[in-house]
This record gives sequence, structure tokens and C-alpha cells, in this order.
Amino acid sequence: MNDVLPEAGDAWDFLEGTVLRCLRQYGYRPIRMPLVERTDLFVRSIGEVTDIVEKEMYTFTDRLNGDSLTLRPEGTASCVRAVLEHNLLYAGPQRLYYLGPMFRHERPQKGRYRQFHQIGVEALGFTGPDIDAEVIVMCARMWRALGISDVALQINTLGDPDARARYRARLVAYLQRNLEALDEDSRRRLTTNPLRVLDSKNPAMQPLIEAAPKLIDDLDEPSLQHFEQVQGALRGANVSFEINPRLVRGLDYYNRTVFEWVTTKLGAQATVCAGGRYDGLVAQLGGKPAPACGFALGVERLLALLETEQTPVPSRVPDVYLVHQGEEAAAFAWIAAEQLREQELDVVMHCGGGSFKSQLRKADTSGARFAVVIGDDEAREKKVSLKPLREAAAQVLLDLREAAALVKRARP
Ligand code: ATP
Ligand code: MG
Repeated sequence: MNDVLPEAGDAWDFLEGTVLRCLRQYGYRPIRMPLVERTDLFVRSIGEVTDIVEKEMYTFTDRLNGDSLTLRPEGTASCVRAVLEHNLLYAGPQRLYYLGPMFRHERPQKGRYRQFHQIGVEALGFTGPDIDAEVIVMCARMWRALGISDVALQINTLGDPDARARYRARLVAYLQRNLEALDEDSRRRLTTNPLRVLDSKNPAMQPLIEAAPKLIDDLDEPSLQHFEQVQGALRGANVSFEINPRLVRGLDYYNRTVFEWVTTKLGAQATVCAGGRYDGLVAQLGGKPAPACGFALGVERLLALLETEQTPVPSRVPDVYLVHQGEEAAAFAWIAAEQLREQELDVVMHCGGGSFKSQLRKADTSGARFAVVIGDDEAREKKVSLKPLREAAAQVLLDLREAAALVKRARP
């Protein structure tokens, strides 16, 4: 679980701001859920035989009533619970997003933490393939807006539950023929949740997984058609993709379209964003059946990826650092600072006194492009001296409006 210090905080703000701007462009609206839910919500939705539920949840007992509670490992279950609890679907389909920390008890490594952050998107109540395509196209726009180029889209379809059952039988037969090649986890899953064998991260298992039968051969016609239409929409939007028949996702609730955005730049933690359709979940959690589609992006992994890109994250520096000396100057400095902020400038006002020289040193390290200097002379005239800090130019005496205009013009 990490602290995010101010130096990294600018990138976090940039990422969140850029992504949320995109989400709003597509009409998604914010929802916030608690960090803690009843344990059974996650067991029922994510699935008993998944990495998350088997070994990654932070679960504890409520001291008062003995309830089993869990720090949320992901947001979809909580979001659907909230939507059902507040009957949001009565008003029609919903496009929702949330962001915040998730908790999984994993072995920490680069790109894998025990408290990490997701921005999650859920589109509830939409049946057609257009919404699958919309959320994917929206991701592509986010990457462009962030300046991220090294991500590739992989898609697959899991079909309907019958198709999965047919496939499951074929897969189990195949795995049983190759029992000696299975690792311990996979042997256990063979009887509990064989599809998850395909999701194994064990390199030794990869050849076996490569050669496994493919779900696409068992697909039902409506799912195939749905998948074709998603692909058509992606082509129409100029979003390139690769079909990965082994993409099954780690959670049980998915059906039909699943997708991942992967990068080659982050080693083993290659997936920065993952999602798909989960038409059964709303009913499974007690609601009137409603289709759904969504994804979650890993903020830490996207930030790591952003760091590998050529374009630096715009770092936030104040427009001006305001220095002042003398009693009259101090009184006017307050007014001046507020008026400059009124003109949309970011103003850091020097606090704590000291000589002009030491204050100007602070102004310099603040990164501000200008110092606003106020002595008693300026205070009497109700003007400020504007001193460029990043170029060798003379300081000029201006009224506040002129100063603000000049600073704004000098913005990069
Ligand atoms: P992985 O296969 O890497 O364990 P997952 O399938 O468990 O990922 P999801 O539950 O789909 O991941 O979560 C969506 C995204 O959240 C992932 O693609 C990843 O970017 C991010 N993520 C998941 N777990 C972690 C973690 N422990 N630390 C940091 N980011 C994570
Ligand atoms: Mg995982």
C-alpha cells in the first residue's frame, strides 16, 4: 500500500482529470460506493473459485454483530449492488463511473499492489453490441488524450452459458488427457472452474494453454453475431484489435464480449485495462434481469506506462509567487492575491516573512514563471511589480488587471 507524494501527485491529477473528462464526453455519470461490503456480495458475484475470492480478499468480522465484511477488491459488485438498492434502472439504462482504491492481498511487485486504484465504468441496461463498442472506443480516446501509444486491444467472446458449458466439457477432457502437465492450481481448478486454467500466469503452463481447444468453436449463433457486430463497430471507429481466443478474464461474471488493453512496456503486469459484458450479474444479485457491460483500468499501471512515454506529464506550477515586505505591503498583498485569483491565476503567496532576497529564492524554486513583488511603494499605488523568473527581462510596474493579462499571455 503506497503513499502518493506531491511529486507523483501531479501525474495522478492529470490522469484522473483527463480520463474523467473523456467519460463525461460520453455521458457517463459519477457514483461512489463504500470501501467495505458484506463478504458474500463478492463471493456471489466474482465467483468462489477465483484468485480474488480464494486468496486475495481482506476479510474481517464486524465486532458488533459478527457480520463478515470485506474491503472491496473491485468495484463492479458494489456498483451493481448500489444500483439495485436505489432502483436506478427504473429510470432507464445507466452509464456510470467511479474511481478509488481497491484491496487485494497479493504478492506485491511492480504494478501489483495490495491497495491499488481503479477507474471503473459500468453501462447497465444496454443489450446491443453498440455499448460494448462504445466503452472500447472510449478507452481508445482516453489513451490518445493521455498521450499513451503502447497499448493494444485484445478481444474475445465467451458466448452464452450453454456455449460455455459445451466448451467446459471439451476443455476438461483435454486437460484430463494432459493431467501430468498441469500445475497444482490448475489441477484444483480442473474440477472447480476449468476455464480459469486458461488464465494461469504460470509460464510452464503456456504451451498447454496455447494448444487447448477454443471456445469460439462452441459459440452460439446470437453470441457470434453480437461479436461480429462489436468488431464491425470497432473497425468503423478505426480502433484496431486482435482476437485472443484464450482471453477468459479472471472473474466469473463475464459473458460474450471480453477485452483487455495490454502493453509490452510493463513486463508481466501487462494489462492496464480490462472488462467486458456481464449480462447475468444483475439478476444474480437479486435484480430484475438487465444486461451490462463495463471495464476497470488500473491507475498505477497506466501511470507507469505514462512514465515510459516521450511526452512528459504537464507539471503544475503556479502562475505567480507573490512576495511582499512591509506592513502596508502585507495588507495589500492579501487583496492583490485574491484579485489575481479572481482573474483565474494560480497564486502562491509567500507566508512567513523574510528578506526580499530569501523570498525570491522561494519564488524561484516554486517553478512559477513570475514573481509579483509588493513593497510599500507598490502598496501605496495599488500596483504590483511583475518580475519574470524564467527569462532575463526587467520587472515592470503594472496594475493588477494588466499584470494578470500579461501573465496569462505568457502561459505556454
Ligand atoms: P491480473 O491478471 O494482472 O491480476 P486482474 O484480472 O486480477 O489482473 P482486474 O480484476 O480485471 O485485474 O482489474 C482491472 C485492472 O486493475 C487490471 O487490468 C490492472 O490494470 C489493475 N489491477 C488489478 N490488480 C491490481 C493490483 N494488485 N495492483 C495494481 N493494479 C491492479
Ligand atoms: Mg489478479
